[in-house]
Amino acid sequence: MFDAIIVGGSYAGLSAALQLARARRKILVIDAGQRRNRFAATSHGFLGQDGRTPGDIVADARAQLAAYSTVEFVDDQVEAVRKTDKGFSAQTVANGDFDARRLILATGVADELPDVPGLRERWGKSIFHCPYCHGYELDQGPIGVLAVSDMSMHHAMMLPDWGPTTLFLNGAFVPDAEQLAQLQRRGAKIESEPVVQISGEQADVELRDGRVIQLAGLFTMSKISPSSPLAAQLGCALEEGPAGSLIQTNGAKETTVSGVFACGDATRSFSSVAISVADGATAGAGTHQSLIFRDH
Ligand SMILES: Cc1cc2nc3c(=O)[nH]c(=O)nc-3n(C[C@H](O)[C@H](O)[C@H](O)COP(=O)(O)OP(=O)(O)OC[C@H]3O[C@@H](n4cnc5c(N)ncnc54)[C@H](O)[C@@H]3O)c2cc1C
Repeated sequence: MFDAIIVGGSYAGLSAALQLARARRKILVIDAGQRRNRFAATSHGFLGQDGRTPGDIVADARAQLAAYSTVEFVDDQVEAVRKTDKGFSAQTVANGDFDARRLILATGVADELPDVPGLRERWGKSIFHCPYCHGYELDQGPIGVLAVSDMSMHHAMMLPDWGPTTLFLNGAFVPDAEQLAQLQRRGAKIESEPVVQISGEQADVELRDGRVIQLAGLFTMSKISPSSPLAAQLGCALEEGPAGSLIQTNGAKETTVSGVFACGDATRSFSSVAISVADGATAGAGTHQSLIFRDH
């Protein structure tokens, strides 16, 4: 019987684990190794780790955690979770079942990308969603925004700080007079011709009329969904964010099911490595204190 099982051993999950390990709690981290930023060669914007590979950041964190004698790791996928008399049980694909008094879901999200040929292969390389993560490296070169709805206005308004920006409407929305004025104020160009595909070394946008707009990078919004059904299996409430559904949590990162905590991208619309690490630390402390101040 563990004090807590943490499902998801990436930035949020390992950060939660660290707080519990330092409280000498017996914990198990189960991870399937599918970090959201695995498509990118480098990770940016996390203090002290800027420009490192995403996997190296996790590997260092895991090595430091492994030095705590009360921490165990299993590399596996949790396929089902259920409530038990004493807490929760997690069923893995290859290593059987594990029981704990508390459960932390740090399982991240899955990105559903716009259906444009050539986009998926460039995701994390020259096509991104987060300007703070990858905008600087584009070296002030030409930048595109591939619209998915009028929420893409946000990208189009932000990105001129990183380079001359073109908003490719691609039939997703028609800016109204106020939006046109806002884009003009920011110096963003608008392209109405539909996008046929993305090609080239970086992100050449091929338009239906045959023109090709060469870009240093392209930004777009993915639709997100929880990358595992575990929260739903337990009956945790989900909430709709601007990009898709998230696990609902309170200030201590506890879900609507007592004893189940959640952290990281699975719980936040606009997240990052730094934010997930902070979120995990909050969930770890919240979980620890729930073990002390509750009689179950
Ligand atoms: C292309 C791209 C580039 C990015 N670049 C940056 C960047 O440069 N800087 C930055 O700060 N942020 C970046 N981000 C955002 C960053 O990747 C996320 O904010 C961060 O990974 C969230 O951390 P997390 O721990 O919540 O989830 P994740 O890192 O996604 O980890 C979730 C973990 O849970 C595991 N898991 C899920 N379900 C199960 C299960 N049932 N059983 C076992 N394990 C499970 C997964 O395998 C995975 O290892 C980028 C995102 C993308 C898409």
